[in-house]
Amino acid sequence: MTGPTPRPNVAAIPAYVPGKPPTVRPGMTSYKLSSNENPYPPLPGVVEAAHRAVEVMNRYPDMGNSALYDALAARLGVPVTDLAAATGSVALIYQLLHAFCEPGDEVVHAWRSFEAYPIAITSAAATSVAVPVTADGRHDIDAMVDAITPRTRCVMVCTPNNPTGPSVTQAELDGLLARVPSDVLVVVDEAYVEFVRMDDAVDGLATYRDHPNVVLFRTFSKAYGLAGFRVGYAVAHEPVAAALRAVSLPFGVSGVAQAAAIASLDAEAALLERVDALVAERDRVQAGLAEAGWDVPSSQGNFVWFPLGERTPDFAVAADELGIVVRPFGAEGARVSIGEVEANDRLLELARAFPH
Ligand code: PMP
Repeated sequence: MTGPTPRPNVAAIPAYVPGKPPTVRPGMTSYKLSSNENPYPPLPGVVEAAHRAVEVMNRYPDMGNSALYDALAARLGVPVTDLAAATGSVALIYQLLHAFCEPGDEVVHAWRSFEAYPIAITSAAATSVAVPVTADGRHDIDAMVDAITPRTRCVMVCTPNNPTGPSVTQAELDGLLARVPSDVLVVVDEAYVEFVRMDDAVDGLATYRDHPNVVLFRTFSKAYGLAGFRVGYAVAHEPVAAALRAVSLPFGVSGVAQAAAIASLDAEAALLERVDALVAERDRVQAGLAEAGWDVPSSQGNFVWFPLGERTPDFAVAADELGIVVRPFGAEGARVSIGEVEANDRLLELARAFPH
């Protein structure tokens, strides 16, 4: 007997592999450095706001996210009509592709980059066109432009790039935009933008203002430390933002998540101090790696990339033995998040001991 069959593209969807939780070993603290999370728990004011929202969880949340949009619009200096919030910025990737791609349309993106891209692209019955990053983990903008065909609907730019780390420069993005047809969407995924300290990096907000085909994706999961609440948002000109809102899941951002996100914007100064501390740790780790003789791409995110090839699984095992859980990607490399000072110290200890 044959049962219902999903569309053929569903069988082709690659699996999303979440970062492993820390290994439990008696007498040893283990640190999870496998999901680019923020090691700091939410601020007390954020927890209190979330608790207050729990008291009305018998009600559906505000489907229009109006208080969140007002807070974001004030913070970013954009009209509320140019915003779309969702259950994490990963949901916005899906929504964008569902709203804009016909089956077989092509989406150009760097690779390796955020693993959800090919998953979301295949889910939308579109075709993933993966353009290898350069040897130092950067987007190969010329190759990405060369990959554009009449079927291209969207080009995804991940800056800083997860998992390799470098940011795209504004000059590179300008060069791309000058050569992309104006009816092709250009996603600028800025999940880690708050960690960027490079002067010539992309200025997403300024770029979106001048380009109706540019969409920024941002998240409360990383710098704001709210990964478990699941809130991300897009900034785009109104027709694109309206399309994102039109295909959103009704009530996708819970009331608790909306309250936590708004409270985080209110507490932004304190949160950005934590980001500064994480950036200082990232720079300390990068300097320590260089001192230990490692040549890793220069990261602007809250993580570092070890291009280890075949030795990746060994590195992950050695890390686990030292009480840190890293994120191996096949036989390509391992990504390690910047975490607590003690966790970062263990990473440096591993880097000094592991042959390279
Ligand atoms: N974009 C990039 C580049 C990411 O690394 C992530 C999270 N790993 C996301 C988007 C999605 O974040 P979230 O859904 O938690 O907002």
